[in-house]
Amino acid sequence: MMAQWRVPLADLDFDEAETEAVLHVLNSRWLSMGGVTQEFERQFAAMMGAQYAFAVSNATQALHLACLALGIGAGDEVIVPSLSFVATANCVLYTGAQARFADILSADEPTISPAEIERLATSRTRAVIVMHYGGFPCRMGEIMEIAARHNLAVIEDSAHAPGASLAGRPLGVWGDVGCFSFFSNKNLSTGEGGMLVTHRKDVARKVSALRSHGMTSLTWDRHQGHAYTYDVTTLGYNYRIDEIRSAIGLAQLGKLAQNNARRAEITRQYWQALRETPLQLPFSHLEGAAEISPAYHIFPVLLPKETSRWQFMDKMKANGIQTSIHYPPIHQFSYYRRIFPAVTLPQTEQFAAREVTLPLHPRMDKTDLDAVIAALHAALGN
Ligand SMILES: *Cc1c(COP(=O)(O)O)cnc(C)c1O
Repeated sequence: MMAQWRVPLADLDFDEAETEAVLHVLNSRWLSMGGVTQEFERQFAAMMGAQYAFAVSNATQALHLACLALGIGAGDEVIVPSLSFVATANCVLYTGAQARFADILSADEPTISPAEIERLATSRTRAVIVMHYGGFPCRMGEIMEIAARHNLAVIEDSAHAPGASLAGRPLGVWGDVGCFSFFSNKNLSTGEGGMLVTHRKDVARKVSALRSHGMTSLTWDRHQGHAYTYDVTTLGYNYRIDEIRSAIGLAQLGKLAQNNARRAEITRQYWQALRETPLQLPFSHLEGAAEISPAYHIFPVLLPKETSRWQFMDKMKANGIQTSIHYPPIHQFSYYRRIFPAVTLPQTEQFAAREVTLPLHPRMDKTDLDAVIAALHAALGN
């Protein structure tokens, strides 16, 4: 039995638009990657101002394709944040390259520290993966400058950041490749799904082949009468999305700006309501900063050092409020400990030990917000 939360951590914003989009695909009798996917890619690329966009079945595949298309492999190193979902580092190991874990800037700004990228860069370093935590931008100006100096490719894990921008430039098109997730709990949901964007023609060519078995034509092309046969030019994968999910993606894309604006509003209300509590509120110092337009994917808070997180989360749960942790650091997972036993990242470890994520989704209303805040006061004992 699934728990019935009074306020869940995340919720879908699905209505007739998604239902009709799916029915339209079913009635068209073409389910595998084709015209609807091309339209989803076209509209996503247009929103991003990206030259190329490739829809895939999840962001982990997008990240893997990004590494492969940039030529990353055995003997190479890639700098990654540890305060992220495990896929951010797994994609590097898939290629045979090594991950080098970078610390975050601070508890107030828990994105990758540019000074750490500088510290970790060696002659073997080929790339850096940055992750826009919560949909708040990493320090892209500094990062791009360091990357240029060390000749590093930049991959943006933008799973939290569809529709976000920094200095007017969307997150995901600052670096060489941007990767997005459309998992159920993300800002744009298709159940499972992802997108890779790039402005580089060489990367686009490789991604196009690698996504579909290294083949030179698709079943769709042959259905359209564009090709009779194909060659296989590289060791590829089946990382394709399908028309049903692309149709959901198109419906969701139409709601993204409005839903991100609603997330912004709820975030500001949270910050306002929690300012006088002993909680630390990451990114709240950026409120009103003109050059950033975040996607407000999650709402993280840091508990006072002396507060027991498990007791706090249990008390929230008892009041029907779902909470989570973003993230257990990647370098502390037992698999990664075995490979990289010596890694310590003080800022990341302190942040991760105190972090709790509160509910945030566009369907939350004032009553939901008040319920979370009341439960929070009770759980903190004030
Ligand atoms: C969700 C997420 C991913 C993985 O996305 P999938 O689509 O589930 O593969 C990668 N990185 C971050 C930061 C995420 O939040």
